[in-house]
Amino acid sequence: MIQINSNFQHLKPSYLFTEIVDRTRAYEKSHPEAKVLRLGVGDVRGPLVPVVIDALHRAVDDLATVERFHGYGLENGPSWLRRRIVDFDYAPRGIRFDDEEVFISDGAGSDLGNLTDILDLHNRVAITDPVYPAYFDTNVMAGRTIDLLPCSPENEFCPALPEQVPDLIYLCSPNNPTGTAMTYKQLQMWVDYARENHALIIFDNAYEAFIESADVPHSIYEIEGARECAIEVRSFSKTAGFTGVRCGYTIVPNALYGYSSTGERVALNPLWLRRVCTKYNGTSYIAERGGEAVLTDEGRRQNMERIAEYHHNADIIRQGLQEIGMQVYGGVDSPYIWARTPDGMSSWEYFDYLLNTAQVVCTPGVGFGKQGEGFVRFSAFGLTAVAEEAIRRIQNK
Ligand code: PLP
Repeated sequence: MIQINSNFQHLKPSYLFTEIVDRTRAYEKSHPEAKVLRLGVGDVRGPLVPVVIDALHRAVDDLATVERFHGYGLENGPSWLRRRIVDFDYAPRGIRFDDEEVFISDGAGSDLGNLTDILDLHNRVAITDPVYPAYFDTNVMAGRTIDLLPCSPENEFCPALPEQVPDLIYLCSPNNPTGTAMTYKQLQMWVDYARENHALIIFDNAYEAFIESADVPHSIYEIEGARECAIEVRSFSKTAGFTGVRCGYTIVPNALYGYSSTGERVALNPLWLRRVCTKYNGTSYIAERGGEAVLTDEGRRQNMERIAEYHHNADIIRQGLQEIGMQVYGGVDSPYIWARTPDGMSSWEYFDYLLNTAQVVCTPGVGFGKQGEGFVRFSAFGLTAVAEEAIRRIQNK
């Protein structure tokens, strides 16, 4: 008799985005004249930039010829892309890796979920609250013990070091949902703590391209000692609008070790390579060529123009909410603005209030964890005209 993984029964229903859609649809149905503005979703806006479109076209043309056809590639990605990542993304910041320390993926989501395959089920896991739900759910599915690290304006959204020492720590900076980012000093504190305790940090850096503040590192490997305790997960999704194309990369440094049940030190890089070669057959060649084009001077220039628009939207939202006295956080190194609801309203009360009075959709913070109660998230991934109109309505209601 086939038995299920009973841990799945411990997952909380993931109703956040369906509930938002349901409530918005219900409102639109009863107010057919209303033009609802959506500042809830965390997805990018098209189109892809021209340099990427050209590369994708060329990759398709390659597949149309016998000479340049590509079938199976290396499971961890082609060396031309891994080298480009090292040379273009890391070397200018003084960080050096061998090609074999880079793994090409189909985006951050899969690797964030799969990396724990190489880690024991009894590891104790520390996760921030509020949080991007994937880290939490992945570890619930595996049945691990999870400790939550509260993040709030009081600790500047940088969690205090826990007394109960974890084995695995998830950090996300710039952060989804709070839109805040960790400084060099804050990240150094976590790297030192992880090294002292032989813990591993999984560092989700999906929003790196949004960093503007000089005191925020662009990679955890800018922090001394990080290559001995951290895996960094990156993605082209938010950098270059690849949410539908699917390509990303993960760095598993050769200097990273874990411990076997008999206390022996074991390098993590070969374990992850083995896992990738067994359970993954490589990223799409077309998506990889698109990723390569992102990592060029022209690719960066074109994508940063789009990101500048998102930053501009974030400024409009942040300043507009501040002008009516709301407490807002994030939105500087990130496309997300995290706002405290006024008058002690709950996240969902404020969601309904905003939908009904301004026809604006936000994301209730409580959907990202208990500490998110009393907050909402606004996303700047829309058109500037929509951000402007939404703020006008919120200010005038
Ligand atoms: N990490 C964070 C913090 C995210 O917000 C997202 C997507 O929204 C992801 C990872 C997943 O990104 P990808 O599209 O690369 O799978």
